[in-house]
Amino acid sequence: MDIRAGFLIPVRHKGKWFNFFMSTLERFLEISGVSEEEALSAIIAAVSPPQLGPLRQNWMRQPQFGNSAPDTAVLRELFDAADFRCEECGSQLRLGLDHRNSDGADHRRENLDVLCFSCNRAKGRGGSERNIHHGRRLVSAIIELYDETGRFPTNKEIKNHSGLTYVGRPELVAYLKKRISEEEQREKSVPN
Ligand SMILES: [Zn+2]
Repeated sequence: MDIRAGFLIPVRHKGKWFNFFMSTLERFLEISGVSEEEALSAIIAAVSPPQLGPLRQNWMRQPQFGNSAPDTAVLRELFDAADFRCEECGSQLRLGLDHRNSDGADHRRENLDVLCFSCNRAKGRGGSERNIHHGRRLVSAIIELYDETGRFPTNKEIKNHSGLTYVGRPELVAYLKKRISEEEQREKSVPN
């Protein structure tokens, strides 16, 4: 199966529009056995804006944030100004606020950036951007390699193909591997 044959949907990244291969998503749903309803619920949960009250209360409880936080109105303005997208990569996925100078108690507006989970974590690892958009790169690599070779790729092949420094979630990889081999067995047992 040619993954480029699928329907394209536009996705915004760093202010530019790109086409996302819808078939990658379809193929992943097929392989993973996730229903459309489950996928949509997960997508809605993932792109839902952060709850500002709980975010604020969380900071108030933690010494690393100086047991303090800006008012929710200020927090809302920060997310509004960023159009509820990561200021680094444009993603809407799992947004949070990052203290630019790494002083968690410095809540001045100019010190607060809206970042997605991937960018925030990459920054915490010393600015490495190599594992940003981990999920999409992981899934695309698995599907591309599988379609190329007809077998489930090894972790090393996934790493090389995707450029990810870690594949992570070995349970997910193991589960997908099992699903694919079951699917193959079923196809083989159907007489032509
Ligand atoms: Zn980001």
